[in-house]
Amino acid sequence: MPELPLREEAAEIAGEIAELRHSIHREPEIGLDLPKTQAKVLAALDGLPLEVSTGQGLSSVTAVLRGGRPGPVVLLRGDMDALPVTEETHLSYASVIPGVMHACGHDLHTAMLAGAARLLSARQDGLPGTVIFMFQPGEEGYAGARHMINEGVLDAAGERPVAAYALHVTSNRLPCGVFSTRGGPMLAAADQIRVTVRGRGGHASTPHRAADPIPAACEMVTALQTLVTRHFDVFDPVVITVGSFHAGTVDNVIPDEATFLATARSFSRESRSALAELVPRLIGDIARAHGLTAEADYSREYPVTVNDAGEAAFAGQAIADAFGTGRGEVAQFPITGAEDFSFVLEEVPGAFVMLGATPPGQDPETAPTNHSAVAVFDDAALADGTALYAELALRRLARA
Ligand SMILES: [Zn+2]
Ligand SMILES: [Zn+2]
Repeated sequence: MPELPLREEAAEIAGEIAELRHSIHREPEIGLDLPKTQAKVLAALDGLPLEVSTGQGLSSVTAVLRGGRPGPVVLLRGDMDALPVTEETHLSYASVIPGVMHACGHDLHTAMLAGAARLLSARQDGLPGTVIFMFQPGEEGYAGARHMINEGVLDAAGERPVAAYALHVTSNRLPCGVFSTRGGPMLAAADQIRVTVRGRGGHASTPHRAADPIPAACEMVTALQTLVTRHFDVFDPVVITVGSFHAGTVDNVIPDEATFLATARSFSRESRSALAELVPRLIGDIARAHGLTAEADYSREYPVTVNDAGEAAFAGQAIADAFGTGRGEVAQFPITGAEDFSFVLEEVPGAFVMLGATPPGQDPETAPTNHSAVAVFDDAALADGTALYAELALRRLARA
C-alpha cells in the first residue's frame, strides 16, 4: 500500500476537485436527467481503470474499480442533482441557470466521489476487492437511488456490496470539516399527504344553505397536530407539517372545496404504518362529522435512512483514525430531513455520514441551511470528504 495517507493525497488534488465542483455548481440541473453533470463526471473519470456505465432511464454514472487482489465489494454513493432555487450567494462560481441552484451541496458530493475514484484507482493493484462508485441523479424528490437500484447498480460488480456509504455536506450545524453519524435511524421517512375536502359552495352570508369545506379543513390541520401528540410515543417521534393550504377566491363566496398538502416524517416502520392508516381515517371522520366528503391520499415517499450499527461505528473509527479525534461526532439525534440513500440501506448495510461545510466566519448555529438561496458550502471540506470516501472503501475492503 502506498505510504502517503489518503488525506494528504486528497489535499494534493484539492484544486482539481474544487474546479470540478465549481463547474458543476455553475450549471446545475434538476431531477433524473442531468446531461451536463453526467458529461462532467465522465470526463473526470476518463482514463481511470474503471468499468463505466450510464443509466437508461436516468443520467446516472456507475463506475466499477476492480482491485488487484481478491475481496468483497463496497459501494460509495454521491448524488448529483440541484434544486429549483434562484441562487443569491454572489459567489464567483454561482449558478448561471436562473431558478436552479446546488443549494444542497450535491455538487460537492459529485466532485468528492470523482476525487475518491482517482485516489483509489491509483491503488488498484493493492486493492483487496471492488469498489462501485454510484453517481446518482434525482435525490431531491425523484427517488433516483431507487431507479439506479432497479437498473442494477447493486449488482454492477457481479456480486452484492458488503457495505455502502454516502456523505452529505451541510452549510450549517457542523463546523467545517467535522463528520457526524450514528447507528440506527439517521434521517426520517418522508411521506406526502394530499387532502381534498369537498363541500357545496354558496353565498357567504347563508352558510347554512351551503356546505363549507374551509372550517372542516382547518379542523383537520389542527387535529393532525393532536394526532401527533396523542397517538405516537414521544420517543419515536413524528412530524406533520401542512405546507400548502388552498381554498376559495373572495370573501363573500363559500367555495366547493379546500385542498391541502402535508409532509409526514417518522423514524420507525411502526410509526410510518400507523401514520398511513390513521391520517386518512382522521380526515375522513372529520369530513363526515360535518356532512362533507374528503379524499386523503397518503403517499409513501422515502423510507427511514437506517445506518447499520456496526457500519456507523466502523465509519466513526475510520474518521478518528484518518483525521484524529475531534473531527468526528456521534450524532445525538437523527435528522428530520429525508434521503433516498435509504433505498440502498434497505438492501445493503452501511452508513450515511454528514460533513460540515460551514463557511469561515459563519456561526454553524445561525448559518443559512441547506436548500437556502444563500447557502454556502466551503471548498475546504472537499479534500477531507474525498479522503473519507476513499478511506471507507479501502479500510472496509482491507477489514473483510
Ligand atoms: Zn436536499
Ligand atoms: Zn441533499
